[in-house]
Amino acid sequence: MNIILIGAPASGKGTQAVKLAQKFNLVHISTGDLLRNIASEKSDLADEIHSFIDNGKLVPDELIIKLVKEHLNKIDQKSGILFDGFPRTVFQAQQLEKFVNIDYVVEIKVSLESVVKRICDRISCSKCGRTYHISQLKGDLCECGAKLQKRVDDTEELAKDRYQVYYNQTYPIVEYYKNFKGYHSVDGEKSVDDVFEQICGVIK
Ligand code: AMP
Repeated sequence: MNIILIGAPASGKGTQAVKLAQKFNLVHISTGDLLRNIASEKSDLADEIHSFIDNGKLVPDELIIKLVKEHLNKIDQKSGILFDGFPRTVFQAQQLEKFVNIDYVVEIKVSLESVVKRICDRISCSKCGRTYHISQLKGDLCECGAKLQKRVDDTEELAKDRYQVYYNQTYPIVEYYKNFKGYHSVDGEKSVDDVFEQICGVIK
């Protein structure tokens, strides 16, 4: 079973992706994490990726498609894949169809106000990408042992820009998938457990 999770930044995609991957035994592919991993090394590619991520812009379609394909070749795809943050444009969705059969597309809906608040109130693990609400913090380390830090793109200004990018460039995917039988939309304003239940309710 292959699933795509679509949602604005801080819609809860990452959190739900981890829970879903565990429950349905799927390989979780977060393109944001993939890009941040490459960007953490010293290379021309890292510099190029930084120039997009750090400004809240999408990296070019050709580049992300190439990186996803390379990543897919390295993993065991048999048990299924959970795409978190990919595709993010209609072109990416059209290309993905050529190399993976998608069973479900789940859109997590959240408002701009929630996105900005969540982004301002969150801190992320520098290694595994897990996010914590600032009220949950007990120290400056993630459960995995790595240091927690504020992502450079997690500022109020960039949160608004990223939401705009989402609506201009990614939201058209929802139209694209709307008539697909595996498409579902869930209310992302609810609690983590509630959203998880909503998603599990539509995945058979
Ligand atoms: P995320 O962690 O999913 O919020 O992604 C962080 C950043 O990585 C985004 O703001 C984009 O700059 C970049 N990114 C992640 N996935 C994609 C994608 N599928 N296409 C283009 N850029 C992406």
